[in-house]
Amino acid sequence: MKNGSIEVKVGNIIIGGNNPVVIQSMTNTDTLDTAATVEQTVRLVEQGCQMVRITAADISQAENLYNIKNELIKCNINVPLVADIHFNPKAAEISASVVEKIRINPGNYVDRKWNPDYTEKDYEDILNKAKDNIFPLIDICKKHGTAVRIGVNHGSLSERILFKYGNTPLAMAESAMEFLRMFNEMDFHKIVVSMKASDVPVMYRANKILVDKMQKENMYYPLHLGVTEAGNGQEARIKSICGIAPLLLQGIGDTIRVSLTEKPENEIPIAKQIADIEKNNDIYYIGKTALDLLEGTIKTLPTEDDENMTALKKINTPFEKNKTPFHENKTAFYFNREILQSLGLKRYKAEFVACPSCGRTKYDIETALAKVKSACSHLKGLKIAVMGCIVNGPGEMADADYGYIGAGNNTVNLYRGKNLILSHVDETKAIDELIGLIKQDGNWEEPSAN
Ligand code: SF4
Repeated sequence: MKNGSIEVKVGNIIIGGNNPVVIQSMTNTDTLDTAATVEQTVRLVEQGCQMVRITAADISQAENLYNIKNELIKCNINVPLVADIHFNPKAAEISASVVEKIRINPGNYVDRKWNPDYTEKDYEDILNKAKDNIFPLIDICKKHGTAVRIGVNHGSLSERILFKYGNTPLAMAESAMEFLRMFNEMDFHKIVVSMKASDVPVMYRANKILVDKMQKENMYYPLHLGVTEAGNGQEARIKSICGIAPLLLQGIGDTIRVSLTEKPENEIPIAKQIADIEKNNDIYYIGKTALDLLEGTIKTLPTEDDENMTALKKINTPFEKNKTPFHENKTAFYFNREILQSLGLKRYKAEFVACPSCGRTKYDIETALAKVKSACSHLKGLKIAVMGCIVNGPGEMADADYGYIGAGNNTVNLYRGKNLILSHVDETKAIDELIGLIKQDGNWEEPSAN
C-alpha cells in the first residue's frame, strides 16, 4: 500500500497515488543526434519504459527536443519525455515548453561557487537569487502543464546546503525542501522529488527523512527512487534492489529508475521486476533483507565464508515468503555477500561507482568500466569511480578513492580522491597510469593466481 502521495500527471502517465510504480530510464545518445536519440527511445519503449529522460545540457540541445518529439510522434510513440537540466536555467525554460517534464538539480541550478565564510544572510541572499531563476520557470511550466522533478544528488549538493547541514542525508532532504517551498509559494504542485546517491544507506535515509519532512509541512509529492552510479552487471542490479526495494516495501516510491552502465534498454527488465517485488522471490528476499539490515532489525548475515552457520535458522524466519531453504541454497549466500557489500557493511572486493552515461558522455564508458574492473576487482576495500564526463563526474563520484573520468578526445583524467592527479592521459595508457597511482599509494596487490 502506497503511503499517500498525490497524483501527478505527466503526459499520458500518472505518477503517485495508488497507481502502479512507473518505470523510467534515460538515453545516453548525443541529444543533437535526433535519429540516434529517437531510435534509442523507441527501443526503451519497446522494452516497457514508460517515461524517457534526455539530456538538455544547453540551449541547442533543449531546442532539439522539439525535433525528437516530432520524430517520435511520426513513429506513433507517445511516451512522456523528461529534459535533464543541470546548470542552465535558459535550457530549462525552453525544455519546459516542449517536453512533459523537466528535471532540475537544486545543487547546481543556482550557486556553484565555494564560499568558506557563508553567513545566514548569504544563505538567504542565494535563496532569493534561486527564486529569481525558478519563478519564471514555474510560470512556463504552469502555462504548458509541464511537471518538474526536483532531483537531488548526494554528489552535487549546493555549497549553501553543505555549509548548513554537511554532506549528509539530512542535507539532501533539506535541499529538496528549499525548492519545494519555493514551488509551493507559487502554488505549483506538479512535482516529483528524488534523493539519489551511490551509497545505499545514504539514499535510503535521505528518502525517509524527506518523507517525514514533507508530511510535517503537509506535502505529499510522489517520489522517484534510484541508486545512482550503481555500475554494471549483477552487482549493480543487487545494489539497486538494496536501495529501492526497502523503500517500496514501506509504501515509499512512485516511479523508479535503475541506473546501469550498460545499454539503457537493459535497465527495464530489472526495473520491472523491482516494481513487481511482491511477485518475485529473489527481489523480495534481497529487499527485505536490506530493509532489516538498514533498520537494524538484523545485524549481520551468514555468508559462504562464515564458519558459524547456526544463525541461519533465525535469519530465515522473517522471509517466509521465500520458500527456498537458504542453508541448501548457494544463491542465498551469494546474495548475502552482495547485500552486505552493497550496504557497505563488508568488503569482499573493490567497489565500483560508475555513472550510467548520458548525452554528455565523451567516451565508451562501458568498455572503460570493464577494463578498470578487470584490472582492479581484487583490490578489496578500494572504491573506484568510472565516470562519463569531467563536468559532473568529479563531483558525483561520491567518496571514491580513485576516479577514472572521460575527458574527451580519447583521453582520461585520473583522480586520487577529489584531487586531479593526471589530466588528458591517452586512453590506451590510462589503466597502467591508474595502477601506477594505486601502487604509489601502497594500495596495490597482485591478483592471486586462483
Ligand atoms: S557524470 Fe555521467 S551521467 Fe552524469 S552528466 Fe556526466 S556523463 Fe552524464
